[in-house]
Amino acid sequence: MEQFEGKNILNFVKELPNDDVCKAYLTKYKWQDGFTCSKCQSHKGCMKKDHKYHCYNCHHVESATANTLFHKVKFGLQKAFCIVFEMTTSSKSLSSVQLSERYGVSQTSTWFFMQKVRKAMESSKKYPLEDLVHVDEFTVGGKEEGKQGRSYDSKKKKAIIAVELTNKHQVKRVYIKSIDDYSCKSLTPIFEEHIATSAKVFTDKWRGYEPLKDTYDITQIKSDNGKNFKKLHIIVHQVRSWIRTIPTHVSKDHIQKYFDEFSYRINRSQSKKTIWHSTIMKMVNHKPITNKQIVCKLN
Ligand SMILES: [Zn+2]
Repeated sequence: MEQFEGKNILNFVKELPNDDVCKAYLTKYKWQDGFTCSKCQSHKGCMKKDHKYHCYNCHHVESATANTLFHKVKFGLQKAFCIVFEMTTSSKSLSSVQLSERYGVSQTSTWFFMQKVRKAMESSKKYPLEDLVHVDEFTVGGKEEGKQGRSYDSKKKKAIIAVELTNKHQVKRVYIKSIDDYSCKSLTPIFEEHIATSAKVFTDKWRGYEPLKDTYDITQIKSDNGKNFKKLHIIVHQVRSWIRTIPTHVSKDHIQKYFDEFSYRINRSQSKKTIWHSTIMKMVNHKPITNKQIVCKLN
């Protein structure tokens, strides 16, 4: 079974027509480098019916979904694959309400599963932004969304964004982090996690960035109502519409997941053909998380 490529939903359904084929797909790619028993780490085993693996050493039987983000998906693998397909290939944000109606799954189950997909979309933090990077803070929610600059409205959710640009000022990659305030302490993590110390960083004149100059190459320029950070503000506008089109309320606790999903898709706009398969692989290689962990933000 070849890995699925592209955005054509008819081909997708033709190649992965039912739960059984989807299980076979997951089994093939979960153990593409050979079987390893999750209990005893033995490599000796064989495939049984229902695409499960039987370990010769400890007799543990493992399904393709076990120990992955597909663990205990109650509504069948084909629907799960379809939801990942929709989330990775559509250009607009999708809500759990829409997808629950489309696939006949309860809204709650859909929401939890989508949070797991978003978990897989989190950055590995292995590839920090380099070269030219613009950084600014923004808010989502509440009134006066069009306003530039720092807002102190407590109803709004605050965030910081870093955009990597080409020499011709085209957007290459984006990272966004939810923040509690605009202090240097809150601004620092996005630098540590996503920006190389060799990068040429531009920010506005906010004093919160000043202490970071010891470690990073930061030039502070006047924002001029956003004019000096044009591409960044186009992305901010997209993030705001992305969040706005989600009909369910996005709480401050969960907004980071939506930022991760947004950035994931922007950062993979050059690899649209393989985005579904690579997301499935990220989910297969990620340890399972429970609904309780999602609610309590324990993951
Ligand atoms: Zn074993």
